[in-house]
Amino acid sequence: MQKNYVIGFPRIGEKRELKKVLEKYWAKQSDFGDVEYVASQLKKRHWNYQKEAKIEFISSNDFSYYDNMLDTSILLGAIPKRFENLKDEELYFAMARGNENSVAMEMTKWFNTNYHYIVPEISKETTFKLNSKKVIEEYKEALELGIKTKINLIGAITYLGLSKSVDNNDVFLHINKVVEVYKELLLEISKLDEEVVVQFDEPLFVKDLDSKVLSLIKPVYDALASVSTNIKVVVTTYFEHSNDATKILVNTPIWALGLDFIHGVKNFEALELIKNSNKILIAGVIDGRNIWKSNFQDKIQLLNKISKVVDKENVIVGTSCSLLHVPFTLSYEEKLDKEIKSWLAFANEKLKELSLVSKQFFDFKLNLDEVSSIRKNAEENSQRKISSKIHNIKIQEEIKSLKLFERVDKFQDRIKVQREFFKYDFLTTTTIGSFPQTPQIRENRKNFKANLISEEVYESEIKKYIDDCVAFQEEIGLDVLVHGEPERNDMVEYFGEMLDGFAFTQNAWVQSYGSRCVKPPLIYGDVNRANPMTVEWIKYAQSKTSKVMKGMLTGPVTILNWSFVRDDLPRSAVTRQIAYAICKEVDDLQNAGIKMIQVDEAAFKEGYPLRVENIKEYENWAVDNFKLSVSSAKVDTQIHTHMCYSEFNDIIKTIEAMDADVISIETARSGNRLLRIFKEVAYKQEIGPGIYDIHSPRVPSVEEMVEQIKSLLEVLPKEQLWINPDCGLKTRKWPEVKQSLENMVKAVNIIKKGEIK
Ligand code: GLN
Ligand code: ZN
Repeated sequence: MQKNYVIGFPRIGEKRELKKVLEKYWAKQSDFGDVEYVASQLKKRHWNYQKEAKIEFISSNDFSYYDNMLDTSILLGAIPKRFENLKDEELYFAMARGNENSVAMEMTKWFNTNYHYIVPEISKETTFKLNSKKVIEEYKEALELGIKTKINLIGAITYLGLSKSVDNNDVFLHINKVVEVYKELLLEISKLDEEVVVQFDEPLFVKDLDSKVLSLIKPVYDALASVSTNIKVVVTTYFEHSNDATKILVNTPIWALGLDFIHGVKNFEALELIKNSNKILIAGVIDGRNIWKSNFQDKIQLLNKISKVVDKENVIVGTSCSLLHVPFTLSYEEKLDKEIKSWLAFANEKLKELSLVSKQFFDFKLNLDEVSSIRKNAEENSQRKISSKIHNIKIQEEIKSLKLFERVDKFQDRIKVQREFFKYDFLTTTTIGSFPQTPQIRENRKNFKANLISEEVYESEIKKYIDDCVAFQEEIGLDVLVHGEPERNDMVEYFGEMLDGFAFTQNAWVQSYGSRCVKPPLIYGDVNRANPMTVEWIKYAQSKTSKVMKGMLTGPVTILNWSFVRDDLPRSAVTRQIAYAICKEVDDLQNAGIKMIQVDEAAFKEGYPLRVENIKEYENWAVDNFKLSVSSAKVDTQIHTHMCYSEFNDIIKTIEAMDADVISIETARSGNRLLRIFKEVAYKQEIGPGIYDIHSPRVPSVEEMVEQIKSLLEVLPKEQLWINPDCGLKTRKWPEVKQSLENMVKAVNIIKKGEIK
């Protein structure tokens, strides 16, 4: 007995094997047998890694070809009607990705992670029935390899809570049917072995639930935990505390509760209840969301604090959530700075941490290797604290002595000066920044990084792109131009690479959805902008036109939300450093004559906390840091921001408080419906509601865009409106972009002529 527990393990493969085989299969270069073969190899390898690391509770059914929520829809027979005629893998991937006849199911973010799940579609017609053998087969598959697993399932309440009702009914009307299917499944599971542990993931319990949902917890888990005496039911929650649910769960016959003590510190408040109920506590203390090496001493302290209340024999040491949200292994990081690497632990390394921490905590006998690993952990952690790589005293001092946190002039005064200065009237046309990333541009970047071409060649290619891009924008008559971002691989990586305090990996991929993975930068130290980051390129672009050239930066909150962030400073403090760097860039740009600057906050909304009680605090520092990042802007410098979403109803006051002169938003797909909130709150600043959807290659007609603009004018006065696409154009192809933007400008001209009459 090791008394340690892994909630779930990544499945994409340490070399993204699953991604590769899936994409081949989708491209019809492989058959499904190849996919199944790779999958079985991966499962075997992942189980063995956990076994070698001496993990006691290893999961089955945490593997998925695409997504666990999708698997659950299949398991429960919740298949939307439009896929009725399909079966097996054809059905599965059509639900995930659509096919010639049917659109895919929707996909959305899994709580506050960057993982996306397939949203179940439920209606009166949904017939729930046990519809898949995957759960049983995966258990047997592991058993044949000599590994007895616990079985992972998505909890009934979370499953329904995250689904959407196609007929606008309460999704929880179906709870009994879901429970019935789970009961049937549990009966089958009970026949698998003398005793089986079943984990129900219920992360929905960390949200602020209404009493109706809370009232379901007891009947559901009374039922599920009494199906068979040889099944031990675990309910796990993660990413926040779940105290309201814990109060109820302790009075059900479940065996154990898994709680997150890293991201849900308030779970400590529930310890007394757990003690009194005699439930097993799976204490999530190894961080499944971040990539820093655990400090074993801190972990033991945390566990001691827990076991002061809950009897030690009732504690199992666990990960805070599934390790799905961290990269696979450090083994392939050959280029990463050695010192920084010694501070990191990815999924595979976290297994060893978990095993060592539990051994220490329970006073199990350690071998010599383990003793030396523990010593090394202490050394590396204390070395990290004092490393000169992390601390930049000069920046710390500068930030401490900051006096100006927001722009001096008020919007009403600024906008007068700016309208005078830029001489625009109304319905001013612009774009969001990027233009198509062509194969040549990618090739150029790749060759430069691989040292195959000189800096001169690299730069001249980029200049050529900018020349063409500017010429095109002038030709079609756009009002405010951009340089097109050909020098940027990614809106966060580009800035990270220029800032001190950021590191980049070769292989630290994390699954984002299906076969898609992202490789977030690591912020390990104080952030410092040693040199200007964008000024030369924007200046060059401006030199090619007499029209206004808009500078393009990524905002501090977005850079933070799309990175792995150091854990030795509060997120707000890290954001402050990034904001300060952007603030200097804004100043350099305006001094170089760039007087219109866009600071993108694509991920502002993503960072919102899961619990209402924490929202005010986030909004305060996120807004403050955005304001700091543009505080250097003078009265005649116009600050734009861009956000990649459109639901502003709940956060409109916060958006207003950001105090940007102009905001562009993603409303093309919702007509003018979502714009109304801006009118309702008497929003003063200017707005560019995207008038066409850039997420599809379709070219919208002039007439269509005329209609779209007219509908915007029904809500807001022309003076307040800018006209632009929905988002950046980098994923599109030139022919579509040319046609679409030409049509956009034509549409505006038609409207303007009408105005003059
Ligand atoms: N300026 C960026 C671009 O145009 C913004 C992208 C985004 O918000 N996602 O690509
Ligand atoms: Zn966008």
